[in-house]
Amino acid sequence: MIEFKNVSKRYAGNQALDDLNLTIPTGDFFVLVGPSGSGKTTTLKMLNRLIEPTDGNIYFDDKRIIDYDLKQLRQQMGYVLQNIALFPNLNIQDNIAIQAESLGWSRKRRIDRARALLKQVDLDPDQYATRMPSELSGGEQQRVGIIRALAIKPKVVLMDEPFSALDPISRKQLQDLVLHLHQELKMTFVFVTHDMHEALRLGQHIAVMRLGHIQQIGTGEAIMQHPANAFVQGFFENEHTPRPATIHDLLLEGYGAATRAPATLPATASISELADALRTQTAVVVTTDQGVRQLTTADLLDYLATKEAN
Ligand code: ADP
Ligand code: MG
Repeated sequence: MIEFKNVSKRYAGNQALDDLNLTIPTGDFFVLVGPSGSGKTTTLKMLNRLIEPTDGNIYFDDKRIIDYDLKQLRQQMGYVLQNIALFPNLNIQDNIAIQAESLGWSRKRRIDRARALLKQVDLDPDQYATRMPSELSGGEQQRVGIIRALAIKPKVVLMDEPFSALDPISRKQLQDLVLHLHQELKMTFVFVTHDMHEALRLGQHIAVMRLGHIQQIGTGEAIMQHPANAFVQGFFENEHTPRPATIHDLLLEGYGAATRAPATLPATASISELADALRTQTAVVVTTDQGVRQLTTADLLDYLATKEAN
């Protein structure tokens, strides 16, 4: 079991996490979901102590993670990165076994483990084990990124938006794959995403985050049926009822910089009104309940590109 107790994180004046309390049962598929900047990565990286909390404690199997030997803690926490980051100069089996090698596993044991894992994700070891990363597609590389995190049989697997750079078809295949691996391996999975669809597909429990606070924790079904507040409800509606997007949707996803300029459009204006306005203005200024923000053509293009990718 993993427990966050009153955990806060401040970066020079910026409160990234504020009094986080969270329990992740052993063997769970737990998803942290929220817009960009809500504190998901900070929460995840605290588990393998890549980031230390400013306040509060995190417990792993009833012991404070700060009291673990760092190396032993990290051996129990496999970590899958967003940008796949395979070592380009190592072949696939050596990439998979790199942590096993540092633990002193014999060469035979490492290769056997790498080949077994390749099989488990439908990559034929005879074909793939000795290829270089550049000879694999993005989806194949991410499969290797996932099994690399599993190689030394950690108790917990941490995944930070592992599929966000992939096309929708590879993404769906990899979602099926991690569900399947989770069922087979009985490890605890902690998965970060900004995509509510992905959270609902994968999570046994979901924590919805916003601006360093947890808004709601529960099963997907419970959250969908009884959203705790307007933010959670809006996050679901954005995903489920196709309606014309508004400026508010961009702001919810964290686009737009703070400004003191006077507002030029309401937040309820549609995306096409925003696009029209940006033909003649370099920035559109909107007043929201979090203050005044300005949006540029770059914000609009980024937003549309991520919608397209989803
Ligand atoms: P998410 O993963 O949900 O996008 P993060 O955990 O990366 O959110 O960030 C949460 C907040 O902390 C954001 O406001 C971000 O700008 C800030 N932040 C993250 N890392 C740092 C850092 N190293 N220094 C200063 N601020 C940071
Ligand atoms: Mg992040």
